[in-house]
Amino acid sequence: MNFDSGLPEWRRNGNRYYTLSPYFKKEFGGVVRKISVDAHFSCPNIDGTVGRGGCIFCDAVSFSPGRRFGLEEIDAQIDDGIRQLQRRFQTDKFIAYFQPSTNTHAPLDTLEKAFRTAIRRPEIVGLTIGTRPDALGDGVLDLLADIAKEKWLSLEIGLQTSHDATLRFLNRGHNYACFVDAVERAKLRNLRLGTHLILGLPGETRDDVVLTSRRVAALGLHSVKLHHLYVVKNTKLARLYAEGKVKLPTLEEYADLVVDALERFSPETVVERVAGEATEEFLVAPEWTAFKHAGRNAVDVAFRRRNSWQGKEYDPNWREKTPQIPLYK
Ligand code: SF4
Repeated sequence: MNFDSGLPEWRRNGNRYYTLSPYFKKEFGGVVRKISVDAHFSCPNIDGTVGRGGCIFCDAVSFSPGRRFGLEEIDAQIDDGIRQLQRRFQTDKFIAYFQPSTNTHAPLDTLEKAFRTAIRRPEIVGLTIGTRPDALGDGVLDLLADIAKEKWLSLEIGLQTSHDATLRFLNRGHNYACFVDAVERAKLRNLRLGTHLILGLPGETRDDVVLTSRRVAALGLHSVKLHHLYVVKNTKLARLYAEGKVKLPTLEEYADLVVDALERFSPETVVERVAGEATEEFLVAPEWTAFKHAGRNAVDVAFRRRNSWQGKEYDPNWREKTPQIPLYK
């Protein structure tokens, strides 16, 4: 008898959470790699549209807002990415990942030209577009919905936490209600959605992380990226850290928070990342951020120690069962 037959496929392979590789294999029939594309868009939290100074942890603040981009440059970045990744990973399928800054913060025709420059390439099987919840007007969402009819598209809406007090501390320039509104309008258009969360933020407890995970899991997103808070040079966070005003969790504490979070997500949610990475050149702390796979390895150890897995505590009816817990705080 096969005792494993009721398990999702990723668990039958011995994994504790649903990573991107098996998802890509199922969706595209093989290996797919992401090529990071910088279209030189600005950020509303830097250029004054909603704020200046940016999120306290962000080193994109030093970017000059509104740098001009050329469509040839997007093509060149894709060529370069393909050259670097094709042989190493034995694949000819790539996703163009519009990554730095806010990739929906530009006039609609500019956005359309940038995204169409990428999707007209046969090697590009899809787009991932990173953005903020307050840069998703209905016109942008309609454009993305049109493009999604032609190629696989994932819209990554940065959140970090569902707790408004922490969002204010981070100087995010939006609240949790803004995120929920963007998600609901994007879902009306059947867009595939992902988000970023930071676990172990200053002032947040394990219960706060669990509540954010429950709330975000209840929104039924396609994917999630989990990060630890790391300090890079020349940021407001670096100053607060130097003044002793910010405490960071240890690697083991962080790994336990990841398990706490992923236990509450659906087994169907693709987990694209369980920790951030930064090079020594820019990094202040914690040190382990510079060691490739340190976060991932610690999370694996924590899952095994706790004999746990993604979805272990997932409750699809959590929202209905807990009307006393506010959707926003
Ligand atoms: S929204 Fe993104 S790009 Fe803008 S300041 Fe925050 S982290 Fe930086």
